[in-house]
Amino acid sequence: MRIDIVTLFPGMVEPALSDSIVGRARTRGIVDIRVHNLRDSAPGKHRVTDDTPFGGGGGMIMKPEPLAACIETLRAPGTRVILLDPAGRRFTQEVARDLSQRQHLVLVCGRYEGVDERVREHLVDEELSIGDYVLSGGEAAALVVSEAVTRLLPGVLGDEGAPARDSFSRGLLEHPQYTRPEVFRDCAVPDVLRSGDHARIERWKRVMSVWRTWQRRRDLLETADLSPEEQKWVAGFSQGRPPEDHLE
Ligand code: SAM
Repeated sequence: MRIDIVTLFPGMVEPALSDSIVGRARTRGIVDIRVHNLRDSAPGKHRVTDDTPFGGGGGMIMKPEPLAACIETLRAPGTRVILLDPAGRRFTQEVARDLSQRQHLVLVCGRYEGVDERVREHLVDEELSIGDYVLSGGEAAALVVSEAVTRLLPGVLGDEGAPARDSFSRGLLEHPQYTRPEVFRDCAVPDVLRSGDHARIERWKRVMSVWRTWQRRRDLLETADLSPEEQKWVAGFSQGRPPEDHLE
């Protein structure tokens, strides 16, 4: 897969993509990530990329011509051009999974008060938001998308099954996790996890995953892919039954 990131601040992006899992995936050639300075696509001596808004109002707006020049150079058959924008579709694990199937993404980072409307209308395929808050630029959002997508590519994670067990993979949050020591500040790891009984451990994980989702993100349960048994657990939680009632 190839990911091109278009930004006015390449220095904010490149170092964060050079380390850890994404950095290793790049080194191993699983993902080819290139960072482009938008200013290089701006004409003239001053390489201007922004201007004042028509109709007044504070701040600056990113001009369409440099973005058009950069995006049109990068676009090829099959390319998905994505503008990071708070008004975009919410970026979720499902969107990450969908994007990880594509060959080529171009991630466009806005700055200032955002981009000229004609960029949305004519140059990008979709807009993505990473949440209901406003950042000063799209760089952090492009990093979020790049990392969430890259870790889903085959061969990137040491444990290939990990993404399928992560939160949101089946529309549920992940069960609680523990490591050594067995007792920390009088709080012990649940006995079942040290029992060696794999069937009981798997059941505990499933029950606790549904329980945690019911406790924290009931909205997810409306669309989660639940088995009939898991649906019964949810009904039990709603009637006040604790997760322990469903462990055996
Ligand atoms: N005036 C814009 C508005 O009210 O929607 C906000 C512009 S913001 C200060 C500058 C840039 O940051 C945006 O063009 C976008 O690229 C990026 N950005 C800010 N918040 C974002 C979010 N939640 N998700 C994705 N990108 C975001």
